[in-house]
Amino acid sequence: MNEKIKKTKNFIIDLIYPNCCPCCKKTIPINNLVCENCDKKLKKLQSMNITTSKKEPVDGGYCAFPYNDTTKPAMLEMKKGFGTCFIDYTLDLRTEDILNNSFLTSCEAVYAVPSSERYNHSQIIAEKLGKFLDIPVLEKLVYKRKFQKRQHTLDYKQRIENAQKSFILNNKCQKTEYKTILLCDDIITTGNTVKRIAVLLKQNGIEKVFAFSLCGVADAK
Ligand SMILES: [Zn+2]
Repeated sequence: MNEKIKKTKNFIIDLIYPNCCPCCKKTIPINNLVCENCDKKLKKLQSMNITTSKKEPVDGGYCAFPYNDTTKPAMLEMKKGFGTCFIDYTLDLRTEDILNNSFLTSCEAVYAVPSSERYNHSQIIAEKLGKFLDIPVLEKLVYKRKFQKRQHTLDYKQRIENAQKSFILNNKCQKTEYKTILLCDDIITTGNTVKRIAVLLKQNGIEKVFAFSLCGVADAK
């Protein structure tokens, strides 16, 4: 597109839908991903590696940021279908980190934690990460049923049972040729969801499952 037309188009889009920082909602220039203030705060945050024992279904993983007051609003925006620029920001900021992580770079394909809703923000993370690592994004290996009970109304043991009932292997899906998969989610808290999906993926013949999330809590397993 002609540069002048492109600039005018961006100017009009910015007037109607101003670009906002996904973390604090402040209006920012159209090509920026986060505001200067949040950028400073995010750059100070540490990423986390997830290490697990050999008995665990998830073989290891990586969380780009802790889940805190700065990152929480961005996660909520993404769930609503906005602020996916935070994924671009994360991949940009953590490029070196990700490319030096032998778990992540050993993966042959990406898979998103499935959703029972039509819009799945984890799928957007998987697609962007697949493009970043130059590996394919797999689909429909596992299905999610609608939660019978809301997770937050349950105690710890009930949550594990509920997560187990919620995800089922898609038996119509052929065994995948890929042996090492990167499973993407927005936040890893207890790890119950990724563990359950890893168990199912291994039933499909996948040998290793690593997890990737934008945010994680300190004791994520
Ligand atoms: Zn901000």
